Amino acid sequence: MTKPIIIAIDGYSSCGKSTIARALAKRLNYVFVDTGAMYRGVSLYILRNNIDWQNSSEKEVESILDKITITFEYNAETKNSDTILNDENVEEEIRGKEVSEVVSQISQLRAIRTRMVSLQQKAGLKKGLVMDGRDIGTKVFPKAELKLFMTADPKIRAQRRFNELKSKGKESSIEEIEENLKIRDYNDTHREEHPLKKAIDAIELDNSYLDKDEQLSWVIRLLNEKKLS
Ligand code: C5P
Repeated sequence: MTKPIIIAIDGYSSCGKSTIARALAKRLNYVFVDTGAMYRGVSLYILRNNIDWQNSSEKEVESILDKITITFEYNAETKNSDTILNDENVEEEIRGKEVSEVVSQISQLRAIRTRMVSLQQKAGLKKGLVMDGRDIGTKVFPKAELKLFMTADPKIRAQRRFNELKSKGKESSIEEIEENLKIRDYNDTHREEHPLKKAIDAIELDNSYLDKDEQLSWVIRLLNEKKLS
């Protein structure tokens, strides 16, 4: 058994980052952290409390963050972890349209990014972690032992998201989803604070035509080649 490492997974929206991150964590017996869920949780809090975040000072945003606790709890039914916002399970709600529409703007706020990055770094102190997001390999863990950058055909990404929402009984149209993904990608790659970009030492994985098992085998092979497992 080799030493536990940190695996950083970044990429565009709906590229299947969390799916592969979760499968990897399970296989390696590592902790998995979905950082998108953290930004979504903060966004939900802001929406629910009608906070005028666009006109809030950095200090005001910091005091809002002091009122927010985000944790993850294992759900035996789905066999995944749910997002808990101040003791309430908000896993369903943070994936909804309302949050998806604002999260990439809210997550641009410096005070929010600073706080989230610090929490994420704490989660990696003992290593043995798979974390997915937009700035994990560049900002949160620039020294991660393995960095992946996921891409996929935009049409396939929209179709996957559509299927996912449909399976949860949520109404949406492919066009609407495509538009939302486009806007989020633009916001995520053009923001001032920690924009999404491929770390120079990240390995790219285009998973347009790979299923979950194929992706998992690909990463496990990579870990073996790099003598990281
Ligand atoms: O991963 P997911 O699509 O759930 O993330 C939701 C949003 O949170 C992204 O569109 C992005 O704006 C933001 N995010 C971020 N940095 C991360 C993870 C997510 O800015 N590390």
